[in-house]
Amino acid sequence: MSEKNPIYLDYAATTPLDSRVFEAMAPYFSDTFGNPSSVHQYGQRAEAAVEASRRKVASVLNCDTAELIFTGCGSESDNLALRGAAFAARERDGSNHILISPVEHDAIMKTANSLEETHGFEVERLPVDSYGRVSPPDLETLIRPDTAVVSIMYANNEIGTINPIQSLAEICRQHGVPLHTDAVQAAGSLSVDVRELGIDLMSLGAHKFYGPKGVGALYVRGGVSLIPTLTGGSQEHGLRAGTHNVPLIVGLAEALALTDEERPEHTAHYQHLRDMIIDGVLTQIAAATLTGHPTERLPNHASFVFEGVDGNALLAALDVSGYACSSGSACKTGDPQPSTVLTSIGIPPELALGSLRVTVGRPTTEGDVAAFLDDLPQVLHRLVALESSSR
Ligand SMILES: *Cc1c(COP(=O)(O)O)cnc(C)c1O
Repeated sequence: MSEKNPIYLDYAATTPLDSRVFEAMAPYFSDTFGNPSSVHQYGQRAEAAVEASRRKVASVLNCDTAELIFTGCGSESDNLALRGAAFAARERDGSNHILISPVEHDAIMKTANSLEETHGFEVERLPVDSYGRVSPPDLETLIRPDTAVVSIMYANNEIGTINPIQSLAEICRQHGVPLHTDAVQAAGSLSVDVRELGIDLMSLGAHKFYGPKGVGALYVRGGVSLIPTLTGGSQEHGLRAGTHNVPLIVGLAEALALTDEERPEHTAHYQHLRDMIIDGVLTQIAAATLTGHPTERLPNHASFVFEGVDGNALLAALDVSGYACSSGSACKTGDPQPSTVLTSIGIPPELALGSLRVTVGRPTTEGDVAAFLDDLPQVLHRLVALESSSR
């Protein structure tokens, strides 16, 4: 790595820990070390911190504290929601059908595969439009009396597209089927008011909104039953066994509260930089196409495919030039496979291999974006020249 740190443009992969969050967490790594399940005062202090955090999260989500479960990450929340709701519905009345969108994160996609292959559920994938959105009429057509659970992400991590969650939730409600939404990517910049959204289950992961890694939350609407996957102690209403990770829970709550409080200013900042990136790339680079929705997209998210460019080579070249970007899916090595998100929205496999995701964050400056836009055409030019000479 060069002396100077590369410019970080991969906030959809993870965000740095907010220093205020770090400070809020610190005492729980040292002085306040008790087990929240213990009876004595050490335990009581730790429990008080967990419950204060739960109230903080409930206030942002506009839900009851009893409707929240702290987990180990966004992926775990997704697993608990999908597996838990599917098994509970099957146990209740034999419901055996699961509906998901085809552009879900692997935490949902692979969990659905496991429920299909190992546990005999029938998993059906809803159609999406060329932006990756699920249409309410399609859901209306495919939802069935024996549908156990529907899972549709709030905003897509690879292409930034936001789903019409409220309308989708309305349909699920009419059919009495729980709707889970993976809001792990959305929570960094969109409102996560569960009453407004109308959803029944919602996953969050703290490291996507300037909180610590290794902690997540799951909202479970009162009355929705889940069968736990992590069994043991009776923590989290018996739905997630294991001693609470107190500092990380405190961190999640603090990070979410700050994100919610500061949302308007951050959104304006993100959107300005995102639009600079989208306009700059599309006007300078003829081979570029925007992926995902042009307006119904995360305010900090720009994503593209480039004709005739190898996405992995582009990422490596950008890294050498001082920019940390992503292809959208985290495939580092081996046989390059086109992203299923991109092929699901109708992008041909060869073109899908030339993907680039550029996501901005709180510390990103106009100067960072200007430098990126200055350097990208040259990086692409060198890459294309290199590829054609090696052919
Ligand atoms: C990051 C992400 C996840 C996984 O969350 P972890 O906390 O890293 O396990 C799940 N879904 C989406 C949409 C994400 O962006």
